[in-house]
Amino acid sequence: MRSERGKDSPDGRRWRVLGALLLGCACAGAGCAMLKGPVAERLPSQYTVRRDMLQIRSDSQVGDDDPRIVELAELRQEVRSRLELPEQRRPVTVYLFRDELRYTQYMETKYPNLPARRAFFIGTPGELAVYAYWGEQVREDLRHEYTHGLLHSSLQQVPLWLDEGLAEYFEVVPGAAGRINQDHADGLAEMLLHGWKPDLRRLERLEDVSEMQRADYQEAWAWAHFLLHESDASRDLLLGYLEELRSPVSPPLFAERLTAEMPRAEDRLTAYITSALEAGIGRATVSADR
Ligand SMILES: [Zn+2]
Repeated sequence: MRSERGKDSPDGRRWRVLGALLLGCACAGAGCAMLKGPVAERLPSQYTVRRDMLQIRSDSQVGDDDPRIVELAELRQEVRSRLELPEQRRPVTVYLFRDELRYTQYMETKYPNLPARRAFFIGTPGELAVYAYWGEQVREDLRHEYTHGLLHSSLQQVPLWLDEGLAEYFEVVPGAAGRINQDHADGLAEMLLHGWKPDLRRLERLEDVSEMQRADYQEAWAWAHFLLHESDASRDLLLGYLEELRSPVSPPLFAERLTAEMPRAEDRLTAYITSALEAGIGRATVSADR
């Protein structure tokens, strides 16, 4: 399982590393926060909110009715229902530091090999954890990282392109026009103007987020948006694949299935981007809900 967050994403800040590398050093259990020791090593523990399989531990006061917490509960329901995910196997814990300084001190102390990033999802055999701080972009960060948590909590495996594509997708609030990520839409439109073509086989070969460039995040997001909205057939393909990812046995590459079951899928994605994203730039033809 991976951890994540970093600079190579479209917002220039997301990154992700192999969680296995963090085994043994992810002292993220609730008890750890109560141990005496330097403040920099303490996890947020002052306020705790529990909702089903979600636990939030925060430095700053947070209540059950905090809109950001309510939103995460709604996101959980939406991700589960839209992707037809099974029951969560494991809880997800969100650690919310009071500010960037405290968050940075903790991450640098506990994970000195990780780059400085605004938030992380770190999955280990012991815990699925999101680390973030109360900042201007906390809402977006939490939606993105919590989506990773939900996917890894429900599925046995989550291919990188799909993990990031869906996290980027659900990062955008449901009420946004067409549920378009404007940065991605702009980037893809620009790429198309310069002759770029989508290539899922290439994207699917990427195994670590450090290999993913800005354009890769944008393409992953486009595939997720396309598969969820282009047609019933595209959505069924995605849902069928997600069902297979419940098993520890790796299914064949998704690109192979796409080629077999949806001829000219890349061309269809290009047309989708052109008509729905480039031309509309978030205002046009892609429905927000199915
Ligand atoms: Zn991510």
